[in-house]
Amino acid sequence: MLNKTSRGLLRRARRVIPGGVNSPVRAYSAVGGGPPFIARAKGSRVWDADGNEFIDYVGSWGPMIAGHARSSVLREIRSALARGTSFGAPTELEIELAERVCAVLPSIEKVRMVSSGTEATMSAIRLARGVTGRDRVLKFDGCYHGHVDSLLVGAGSGVATLGIPGSPGVPRAFTRLTIQAPYNDLAAVRKAFGRWGRELACVIVEPVAGNMGCIPPVPGFLEGLREECDRSGVLLIFDEVMTGFRVARGGAQVHYGVEPDLTCLGKVLGGGLPAAAYGGARHLMSEVAPEGPVYQAGTLSGNPLAMAAGVQTLRMLEEPGVYEQLGAASQHLADGFLEAAQAAGVELSAAAVGGMFGFFFHPGPVENFGHARQAHEGRFKRFFASMLEEGIYLPPSPYEALFPSLQHRRRDLDRTVEAAYAAMRRAARVR
Ligand SMILES: *Cc1c(COP(=O)(O)O)cnc(C)c1O
Repeated sequence: MLNKTSRGLLRRARRVIPGGVNSPVRAYSAVGGGPPFIARAKGSRVWDADGNEFIDYVGSWGPMIAGHARSSVLREIRSALARGTSFGAPTELEIELAERVCAVLPSIEKVRMVSSGTEATMSAIRLARGVTGRDRVLKFDGCYHGHVDSLLVGAGSGVATLGIPGSPGVPRAFTRLTIQAPYNDLAAVRKAFGRWGRELACVIVEPVAGNMGCIPPVPGFLEGLREECDRSGVLLIFDEVMTGFRVARGGAQVHYGVEPDLTCLGKVLGGGLPAAAYGGARHLMSEVAPEGPVYQAGTLSGNPLAMAAGVQTLRMLEEPGVYEQLGAASQHLADGFLEAAQAAGVELSAAAVGGMFGFFFHPGPVENFGHARQAHEGRFKRFFASMLEEGIYLPPSPYEALFPSLQHRRRDLDRTVEAAYAAMRRAARVR
């Protein structure tokens, strides 16, 4: 599958980088064959080191919603670059990004910038614990919230792909404070609240699960979490690192009309540079240092290049019709994959929410991680390999969501669905 230059680079990388990659899912362990090394990207396309061109649905795992190397984003980065890359002091660009976040997410009145989604969830949980004086956290099986110690329990894609339940190196004392429930299962949540309600600091949830494939919340699930949290004085944290600015301008909370207490953002927020954030109501965020006692800091937090890329990306997302276009693209692809599967006689289920979609080699419904894990692995592998050969770059794991960008044109989508027809026929031969 892999061409000569990428194979050579992988050998070289493995000598000095664990697995040759700086984040585990990039290693292609779920699909085999080793990853193509990417040399450059533009619009909807990426090119590997051997010069192969692909239509990209990884989008750097979510951030590249405006498309790769978008000229207006590059212009803003260049202009910031010329003024210096980091000061460790406040800048006007940080305010501009924070104001834009507060303007589109009604639940956020104040926001703190950090550099990664992991930092955002870790800090939001620290704040929830600090404010409530409680220690326990409820999370959902298959939801990923970054590699935070206490959250590496049943954590979806990366760890699922490796087939390990948690991670060595995380003290049991930490994970003992983490309560797990199946996604979309309010009865289980109520039971957990019955037992631990008074000890819970927060519930953290991906409002659309995107790290075990793409699994939307069933009607009433998010509303039910809101009610349970209110009743027991527990903070509700929406981890919108993936869904923020992706499923709607105001994220899943606006799309579904349920307000969390705290929100984590990342990915799209930085427009392809490292930026993430956590925010919420004024009285909660005022507990963060230096206003309040909950400590959190970062040398490169609010980095000017990342702020510039984020501001320009959010500006582009304010234009009318943008979310209609992203939603139509995701739906078109989900429908196309379903039709291709039907034509090949393969059982498939698919879901699309705004600018993200996913599919399972499973007849459906797929509402939680248990269901997702029943999907046909061999068929996914065959489908993935065949798509790659056809020039379609998909995430290399059955537990990931797919992301079209604003630069994915009709011909890209049609080309992708056409490739899916051929790939489904090949997948159908896998029993
Ligand atoms: C990607 C992701 C994270 C982690 O963000 P990093 O920037 O990789 O640390 C956290 N939560 C969700 C929902 C994500 O999709």
